[in-house]
Amino acid sequence: MVQQPVQPIFILQEGTQRSTGRDAQRNNIMAAKAVAETVRTTLGPKGMDKMLVSSLGDVVITNDGVTILEEMQIEHPAAKMLVEVAKTQENEVGDGTTTAVVLAGELLKNAEKLIDDNVHPTVIARGYRIAAEKARDLLENMAEQITEKDEALLKNIAITAMTGKGAEGSKELLAELCVKSVKQIRDNDGTIDLENIKIEKKIGGGAENSELVQGILIDKEKVHSAMPRMIKNAKIALLDAALEIKSPETDTKIQISTPDQLQAFLDQEEKILRNMVDKVIKSKANVIICQKGIDDIAQHYLAKAGVYAVRRVKKSDMDKLARATNAKIVSNLNDLNEQDLGYSGIVEEQKIGDEMMTFVKECKNPKAVTLLIRGGTEHVIAELERAVKDSLGDISASLKNKKVVAGAGAVEMELAKELRNYANKLSGKEQLAVLAFANSLEIIPRTLAENAGLDPVDMLTDLKSKHDANEGKWFGIDVMKGKLFDAWKAGVIEPLKIKTQAIQSASEVSELILRIDDVIAASGSKDNVPQMPPGGYGGME
Ligand code: ADP
Ligand code: MG
Repeated sequence: MVQQPVQPIFILQEGTQRSTGRDAQRNNIMAAKAVAETVRTTLGPKGMDKMLVSSLGDVVITNDGVTILEEMQIEHPAAKMLVEVAKTQENEVGDGTTTAVVLAGELLKNAEKLIDDNVHPTVIARGYRIAAEKARDLLENMAEQITEKDEALLKNIAITAMTGKGAEGSKELLAELCVKSVKQIRDNDGTIDLENIKIEKKIGGGAENSELVQGILIDKEKVHSAMPRMIKNAKIALLDAALEIKSPETDTKIQISTPDQLQAFLDQEEKILRNMVDKVIKSKANVIICQKGIDDIAQHYLAKAGVYAVRRVKKSDMDKLARATNAKIVSNLNDLNEQDLGYSGIVEEQKIGDEMMTFVKECKNPKAVTLLIRGGTEHVIAELERAVKDSLGDISASLKNKKVVAGAGAVEMELAKELRNYANKLSGKEQLAVLAFANSLEIIPRTLAENAGLDPVDMLTDLKSKHDANEGKWFGIDVMKGKLFDAWKAGVIEPLKIKTQAIQSASEVSELILRIDDVIAASGSKDNVPQMPPGGYGGME
């Protein structure tokens, strides 16, 4: 009998790339680990910065996990999933992005070891799920309470978030400003929307010239030079209507044949504008903030009436102004009346750096404020802004959640210990996975030590024995002095939410990656090469 030659069967389009089984897993894990490795050196107060240069030559210098990953334009699909983890962390808390990514990398690294020992990836994934759930409970029990009255604690939280982020010299001042602003914009029912803190950056001066404006700073000058430069006891009209004559929407022809007619036409126009201005003045407003345009003639009349006006203000600023001055935004001039006006102690045009700006300040109990951040150069300010945003996120998370923990590796080490105790009560291979999860948490103190140039093995052994002997749950690594300390007493404090969110996202993404055993990439897809580029990302692996 003659054997028929076996025809290969194609089920996928030509050019499709496929990797399966261990290959696929290994590739994905390797890519994810490479991402984690890249940001790892930036963790903690002694972490280094990265300089990222875009294809257009723009330079960003930062220590912020999510910023680094966004700027890197990562393409590997599994690596991208880690970037998503950082983004989620940024959106949910605003801080802890490096922690989340580093943790995810370590979870996958330890999973890989278990896979090598023939533990099935789904078992590992299940174990990680169990560990993550248990970790949440353990953390809840471990955490300390906080209320809005704990000024000193809140300030420490702000400082912890900023440590090592270019704010060194002025972190006391900035921390105070951050705490004040979050408390100020907090609604009576406790809701905090950080959108109501406007961050305005201006080059010039130093970080120590930063200030909290009890109101809103608008990046606009007054529309007419004859207007007063400053108005005290400002009564502010917020207008979402133009003080202009609408140009006709369809093509219109006006036939004018004599100079008289032209004059009459112009007079008519002026009358309409005059009328508009009169409505404003009648409302007793002495400041007008307009989202749309203000005609030259209207400007002239407003100036004559001693009204301060700015135009083409952003919608987002209008909303903040409404909250800060307690004004109502009016969209029809005919509806404007005194009750709609907002109030501020001072409206003033001021030169900041080399730009004119309008300060609406000294508002009464404003529910929206402005943080004016100053710094010597654009790069310094950009990094200061990221530090301040981390701080605001942490203060807000602490007040919302009312629970905080000590950082510097303390919380991770204590949690690792408790998880190991828990694992010992489990049986089966899940136990191995829970133990691996517990060990993965130690990557945080280890990295803090490494980045500070300390011996990670010595530090970790000492730290572990402190926790195991129950000498204090908040023992962590003093990266400045190179020894152990009680991180709580030293004021290294972070919201619980950073840790619960980081653990949850890190474990979710590693479960997801572990369950993949087949990567099928369509031809032409940008992501169709599930291999690492030679040398890995940034040459880290
Ligand atoms: P992330 O993006 O994860 O927030 P950071 O670079 O901000 O990364 O580093 C945060 C880590 O640094 C946390 O584990 C925090 O506890 C630790 N940390 C902050 N301040 C100190 C300090 N003064 N001493 C030791 N560790 C600190
Ligand atoms: Mg941070």
